[in-house]
Parts: sequence; structure tokens; C-alpha cells
Amino acid sequence: MENKSLLDEITNIASRRGFFFQTAEIYPDNNSGFLEYGPYGVELKNKIISQWRKLILKKDNMLEIDGSQILPPSVFIASGHLKNFTDPLVYCEKCKNKFRADKIIEDATKHPMAENLANEEYDKIIEKNKIMCPKCKSRLSKTLRWNLMFKTGVGAEEKDSYLRPETCQSIFLNFPRLSKIMRMKLPIGIAQVGKSFRNEISPRQGILRMREFTQAEVEVFFNPKKENDVSIEKIENETLIFFFENKTHEIAIKNAIRKKLISSKLIAYYLFLLQNFYLHIGFPKEKIRFRKLNDDEKAFYAKEAFDFEVLTSIDWVELVACNHRGDYDLSGHQKNSREKMEILDESTNSKVLPNVFELSLGIDRTLYSLMDLGYEDDKKNERTIFKFNPKIAPIQVAIFPLLNKDKLPEKAQEVYNSIKDCFDCFYDEAGSIGKRYRRQDEIGTPFCITIDHDTLKDNSVTVRERDNMKQERVKIKELQTVLWKKIFG
Ligand SMILES: [Zn+2]
Repeated sequence: MENKSLLDEITNIASRRGFFFQTAEIYPDNNSGFLEYGPYGVELKNKIISQWRKLILKKDNMLEIDGSQILPPSVFIASGHLKNFTDPLVYCEKCKNKFRADKIIEDATKHPMAENLANEEYDKIIEKNKIMCPKCKSRLSKTLRWNLMFKTGVGAEEKDSYLRPETCQSIFLNFPRLSKIMRMKLPIGIAQVGKSFRNEISPRQGILRMREFTQAEVEVFFNPKKENDVSIEKIENETLIFFFENKTHEIAIKNAIRKKLISSKLIAYYLFLLQNFYLHIGFPKEKIRFRKLNDDEKAFYAKEAFDFEVLTSIDWVELVACNHRGDYDLSGHQKNSREKMEILDESTNSKVLPNVFELSLGIDRTLYSLMDLGYEDDKKNERTIFKFNPKIAPIQVAIFPLLNKDKLPEKAQEVYNSIKDCFDCFYDEAGSIGKRYRRQDEIGTPFCITIDHDTLKDNSVTVRERDNMKQERVKIKELQTVLWKKIFG
């Protein structure tokens, strides 16, 4: 119960403080599985994305595109989504309520259940355990497949089209054009961040499983014959965190390759980039891991797959799907569109149909996990804190005049104006100073600056740190440098 309540507690604070909240909440017919971000949520989300760009895209000279969210059926015939992107569905023969077969089994048996079994397998388990409709205890139907794509009609003739269930398809579609105009050399990463849509049968767990959500995806195109030609000397002694044999292992990259935990240097390099990004934005080493997926867990297009997971109060949560997609996508689109997807690999001077390694990252889940890991109920000081890394905190510096009189607000405004171009700042003069501190703690602001009567005499201010509530005096003329070091140093 404890676990469930932290998700509820964070959802509650998020809604009250403007991180995220239910879509169309003023209407009774609002849909579950849709949330929107308020100002602090947008700040946090944008900073996560900007670090993703800096630490993964820029570091590896990737290209970024911004594709359409509505795509024609041909795309999803070629990609296999029209046929294969399904969840197992059962319905109640009496009340007609619909359920996900694997979830209903999980709820009834209290054991985790695979998502990718054949329909008959689910039927057998439901039969054996005598699982009935949770609503009315009647018999359940045989298992059917439910396609997760949202269908829509384009134009007055309402031509069948689909909201994309993942952002990566437009990367594959644009590959031949980009390879011509961008003078690409393999290996090359192409990235995209944006909304994806999945018509989940019954989304639960709020922000962790939404019907409309934000993905940040990277597709690395490479010559399959040269998957081990990537130079990793600089990082081969760095470590990756893996889960196998029921334990977490921190293991040097060169050993992970030698032990065949990872099949190639190329994969090792991108897993390292990804892990480095998460460590950098404030995920502790002890709470992250890569888990290699078994065949019954992998997506239908994946040859080799790892989930990057984080330990939240709920359980281990998948944040990133790392998939070796082989040439599944490019060959599918090449066959269906008759457009050549091959590229000249200059290093071998031959044409090659690239393979793809993908890092498909859930932005909303990453954001929730940062709130879950950073949450502290500091009962002693009667405050709630989010211990965000200062680099990504929605507000980095709050500025307060101690009192709303004696020229303190004017001085505080002056200080605010002098630093607001360097950091995300917030000025507040309403209420007691204690209340103002608590309010900032609850949105995770790492530093609060107070302007008091001494400031008028000696041009110094008090800088208070969120986590330990320690205060230090800093000269106004040194403030920018001091804060810069604390936030970005
Ligand atoms: Zn029923």
C-alpha cells in the first residue's frame, strides 16, 4: 500500500503545484490515459529533453527531425504495426467490459505475466485459474487481439490514417532523403522527440502509462558488417549496470563485451551514452539497470533488446527500450515503397542496407521517476521536497525580500534582474518567509535568496540550500558566479 500511495501523493502534488494534471478535468466525460503539463512540468520536461540533446545527440553528432503525427496506412503495413501492434483482449460475456488478458491474469494470480504469449496460452491460464470478470464474476470470452493504434479519417473523404504509435517511423521514411542531402556517413544517429499515441485497453498508473505520451527516440544506422569497428578505447573501462542471475552487476564495458552480455561494441557505446545521460540528470547508480529481454518479452521487430529500468517506489519501471531492429524497418519500407533504402558506405566503398539500433526513451516516465526518486517528506521541518538536480529543476533560484517594506522589494527586484538571464528565476514577496521557502521546496527549487536589512548596508544576500537548509552570505557581485558553480559546476 505504501508504494501505491507515493504515486498518488506525487500525482496529487503534481496537480496542486502545476506539474501535470488530468486532461479536460472540468468535464465528467474526460478520458483516462491523458494528462497535460502545467508550467513547472513543462520546465522540467524541457530541461530533460535539452540534456538528452546535449548528452546524446550533440555528443554523437546525430541529426534531429520533426515528423508528422498522422501517417497513412502504408507506413504501418510496412512496419508491421497494423498486423502486430496488439495487446491481448478479453471481454465479459455478460457485462461486456473489456480487459487486457495478461493484466487480468496478473491481478487474479498475483504473478507477473508475459505480454507476448499466443491467445491460446492466455485462454488456458484463464481456464485453469477459473478467472472470471472482475466486475460481475461472469465468464470471459476467448482472447482476441486489440490493435493499439488510434485510427482517424483525413479530409472530407475521411481517408483511413493513423496517429503514430512510435516516433521512429518517420525517421525510417526519411532515411533515403537524409542520406542524400546530409552527406551521411555510417554509423549515423537520427533522432526525434514528440508525441506518440497508443489506445491502451485500460491505462492504469497515471503518468506511467498514457494514451498520448512523449517519446525521445534515437535510431542509429550502421553497417552490420562493422558493428564491432566502433572505437571504444576511451570508455572500455567505464562501467555499465546490468541485471542478470537475479542480481545487479556493475561491469566494465570491455568485460560485458567479452562475456557476450552485449553483442557488439556499437551497442555498448550507445548503452553507455544513455546511462551517462541518466546519471547526469540525477538518477543514482544504485537505482538503475539494463535488463536483457527474453524472446517472449521482446517487441516483434527486435533481434536483441535491453530495457533500461529505474527502481521507483512502485517497482522497477522501464524508461528506455534499447532495440537492435536489424534491417527490419528499412527492408520493410524498401519492399513496400520500392524506394531504395541502401546507402554507400564510404569506408568499404559498397552499398549497404543499414541495420538499426534504437534508444526509445519515455520522457513522461523519466519525469515521473525524477519526482519519485527526489521526493522527501521532511516531517521534522514540516516540508515536502523534490531533490531535483539543480541543472534540471523547474526553478533554479527563487528571490525573496525578507519583508514587503523598507525598500527591500526594490533591492530584491534589482538582484532578480541581475541574474534572471542566467538561471530560471522566480521572484516572490507574498506571505511569510517560511511559507515562501516551503513553497519552493515543494517544487524542488535548489536555491533561495533572501534580501534583508543587512543587504542594504553590505550588498550581500543569504543563499539557502534546499536539501540541508544551510544558509550562507554571498556578495551580490559574486552571486552569479557562486550560483553558476552550484548549479552547473
Ligand atoms: Zn462482467
